[in-house]
Amino acid sequence: MNRSPRVVLLAGGVGGSTFAVGLRDEVRERGGELTVVCNTGDDLWLAGVRLQPDVDSMLYALADVKDTTKGWGRRGDSTRVAGELHAWGVGWDWFELGDLDLGAHLARTSWLREGASVSEALRRLQSRWDIGATLLPMTDAELDTRVVTAERTMHFQEWWTRFRASILPERFDNPGIETAVPAPGVLDALAQADAIVVAPSNPVVSIDPILAVPGVRGALRAASARVVGVSPIIGGAPVRGMADICLRVVGVTCSAAGVAAHYGARESGGILDGWMIAEEDAADRAGIEALGVTTTVAPLWMTDAAHTRAMAVRALAAAGLPG
Ligand code: GDP
Ligand code: CA
Repeated sequence: MNRSPRVVLLAGGVGGSTFAVGLRDEVRERGGELTVVCNTGDDLWLAGVRLQPDVDSMLYALADVKDTTKGWGRRGDSTRVAGELHAWGVGWDWFELGDLDLGAHLARTSWLREGASVSEALRRLQSRWDIGATLLPMTDAELDTRVVTAERTMHFQEWWTRFRASILPERFDNPGIETAVPAPGVLDALAQADAIVVAPSNPVVSIDPILAVPGVRGALRAASARVVGVSPIIGGAPVRGMADICLRVVGVTCSAAGVAAHYGARESGGILDGWMIAEEDAADRAGIEALGVTTTVAPLWMTDAAHTRAMAVRALAAAGLPG
């Protein structure tokens, strides 16, 4: 066993944070260090505060204060403040803002207003708990994902939460991403990693924005660690959410093989050395191997902590870190 492995996880919100907890528990038991590089494409300004939905899901999950029934937000939260905001017509009445959640948004916004960077604000937020990992935003730049439809361009959260992805977009866009730089620590973590894992997150709107920050893709391709991804698609469909629609927009087949091809093999210009697919998708294996990606077939349902931990153990093994 490689003692004290340094592991980096690239992740979005709900799927990413569920997986991150299992990976964190395993890496912690091995005496290692986990760095989570989280998508910030979902971020938005709302009701005067800065929200970071994926970052917050990750923070709350690692701190064990997440509402695991809903999959996001704080456990035991209430919505009294949101009720007041709605009475004044402030914010979006279809976008739920919990009171405890608003506490985090207010703290973050006040630090940003004082001049702190996004990473510094996140460093302060995570220092409250023993999260057993270092949580980094992909970048300090604001480059919120926009959804371009035939009618108009809207924030990703409006498309996702208000319209439940019912309007077919022409494309997704992160204005300003060409000039963004990775947040402090991201490139070093990738360069020093013993294993790099791509979480079972939405490939298009959670992982692709991370990969699109200039420098990240190159760092993955140059990393000495193996890069292993976990499929968010089981039996040809996303487990939760609307990744199928997102994949259609970028012309990718909604299958374990389709997503593997989208990320691509590292040996031919992509990012993956290994890809974990569900038993339900075992028939995709040969096609993925043919891309040059070592394929592991395993149970991929994160139904409870034990199953998720077992997935993390297999992902680490696929990355060359057997337990
Ligand atoms: P979001 O940012 O909140 O949308 O969350 P992520 O992008 O991190 O994760 C969304 C993805 O997680 C979806 O595409 C789901 O298919 C995937 N997902 C959710 N639960 C599971 C699970 O139990 N197993 C696997 N393999 N994927 C899952
Ligand atoms: Ca997200």
